[in-house]
Amino acid sequence: MARQFFVGGNFKMNGSLKTTKEIIENLNKAQLDSSVEVVVAPPSIYLTAARETLRKGIEVAAQNVFDKPNGAYTGEISVDQLKDAGITWTLTGHSERRVILQEDDAFIAGKTKAAIDGGVSVILCIGESLDQREAGTTIEVVTKQLQAVAEKVQDWSKIVIAYEPVWAIGTGKVATTEQAQEVHAAIRKWLASTVSKDAAEKTRIIYGGSVSEKNSKELAKQADIDGFLVGGASLKPAFVDIINSNQ
Ligand code: PGA
Repeated sequence: MARQFFVGGNFKMNGSLKTTKEIIENLNKAQLDSSVEVVVAPPSIYLTAARETLRKGIEVAAQNVFDKPNGAYTGEISVDQLKDAGITWTLTGHSERRVILQEDDAFIAGKTKAAIDGGVSVILCIGESLDQREAGTTIEVVTKQLQAVAEKVQDWSKIVIAYEPVWAIGTGKVATTEQAQEVHAAIRKWLASTVSKDAAEKTRIIYGGSVSEKNSKELAKQADIDGFLVGGASLKPAFVDIINSNQ
């Protein structure tokens, strides 16, 4: 069974209500490959506006979620609140949250579990730093990040794994197709041995880190690359070309 190509747009903490609406208008009028699953993740303050204006068929993701039900957690957003607002996806484990906000593997696994249990699908981000790549520990690092989730989550059918080497995020330094394919294949092997053969066959493993309309076609051809998580380029009209890069 072929895995459905998946392209996510991570707007990060960029833009305004006006620019978010402009990106959405551009997507609404674009000719998009109908076989691709598209999800966009605007800043939380624009989630509702995005959901209200985006065309049907494109889903909206939060960039973060909390691991507890509604309650006294100032500044956080719950899974139930996302669902209430029509938000069907969330990112977890983005490297900017791992590094800048110091979220650890166990906390990220808890958020992932809370989302899945509550019916919100997850783009689970993993990836190694430059030091870790140079030390030859890439596979060890990403499987440890995945292992923490496997300890809390059994059903991986609502998870998309985003492999994002930290050194490639926002740097213009994209991983080579070989580097990306090698890690994606290792992740799939890990899924087969740790979760199930079925999960290994069905789970989308997408690549993120300086994806652009220039490199997406080559990356999309790799056997284990099932799509992209796009940061900077998702704010530009060329995002449409990236969505259509698997044609
Ligand atoms: P980038 O970001 O495409 O700007 O490198 C990717 C991401 O952080 O998801």
